[in-house]
Amino acid sequence: MIAQTEEKERVNTRAEHFGRLFPGAPKFRLKQMEEALFSPLFQSFSDVSNLPLLMRETLVRELPWFAVQEVQVLESAKKDTYKGVVEVQGGKRVETVLMKNARGAWTVCVSSQVGCAMACTFCATGTMGFTRNLTSDEIVDQIRFWEAFLRKSPTLSDSKGEPLSRISNVVFMGMGEPLANYEQVKEALRLLLSYTDIGVTRITVSTVGLLPMLRKLLDDPTWPPVRLAVSLHSADGETRKNMMPSSYDAFLDGLVEWTERYFEKFESRRRHLTFEYVMLSKVNDTERHAKALIDFSRRVGKVRINLIPYNFTGSIYRDSLPGDFARFQKQLEDAGVVVTRRRTMGDDIAAACGQLIVEKNGSVD
Ligand code: SF4
Repeated sequence: MIAQTEEKERVNTRAEHFGRLFPGAPKFRLKQMEEALFSPLFQSFSDVSNLPLLMRETLVRELPWFAVQEVQVLESAKKDTYKGVVEVQGGKRVETVLMKNARGAWTVCVSSQVGCAMACTFCATGTMGFTRNLTSDEIVDQIRFWEAFLRKSPTLSDSKGEPLSRISNVVFMGMGEPLANYEQVKEALRLLLSYTDIGVTRITVSTVGLLPMLRKLLDDPTWPPVRLAVSLHSADGETRKNMMPSSYDAFLDGLVEWTERYFEKFESRRRHLTFEYVMLSKVNDTERHAKALIDFSRRVGKVRINLIPYNFTGSIYRDSLPGDFARFQKQLEDAGVVVTRRRTMGDDIAAACGQLIVEKNGSVD
């Protein structure tokens, strides 16, 4: 199991800055500031008239309204996907994606780290290495960034600047391993659940399966019951270790044990746990791999397998051949496993799953 690479920089959150700037301020002032950030009524701290004038002036001087700054926004040919390259404190860049979802609303895919230490061999971000965790503000401001983008876009909003479609879902599937940045991701979830109308069933945190962190969140009364997706990618231990260096011999058994506890805790919701499965030609898409996945799914119980077409072209891997993909899917379905297939979106702007990368010199791949 790969240890989390030591963080090279520690960046303060907005709440920490606020506490330093106004050490004696009552708690409700911080709440007012946080509320204002998510309100469409305000575009700057100077507009937040329920804060004292001196506080507003200090905030304008000391704190940026956005913790992420636009570098570039790319639009897919179908105009259903947008990729944003944004700069965070210290000049580092991460990517965030806005996608039309099946209900015609928008889903935002957020990054949780600059780079990633997990080094999954099929993933563009995995080639970057790990630089630092994003703060909760840098995470939620990716959603605020897209909200502002929709409001100022003449084709995506009405004459009053109201978005034609709302942001309804958030997925933590961008750059980084969210559970390796547990506290900041949890705080980002708190901010989203407190100040937006996006509920727990509309937020998905995707993880490679860091078992200590997965166990921790089940024991953590302050971890909100958002949806979880585990990147399984193979139910064959050796294949999984080759694809994901963070995997290890006892992982699959440990995951089964964890899922038992997960279903105990979330019994009332009767929810399926999602396993992500990227389809790599001749690597994890053979009949043998399908059989291993069927057996594993039976051990776990209420699972949904989300098959993901592979998109990263600068890779040693290739997408499953259409016939192999269909045969693999049918083998699972015939065995009674619940299967979905992810739509590929934004592959023409390198915004599809596994394609997010910002090169060290800052240029976009
Ligand atoms: S797939 Fe996720 S966890 Fe693996 S290297 Fe890429 S960003 Fe990191």
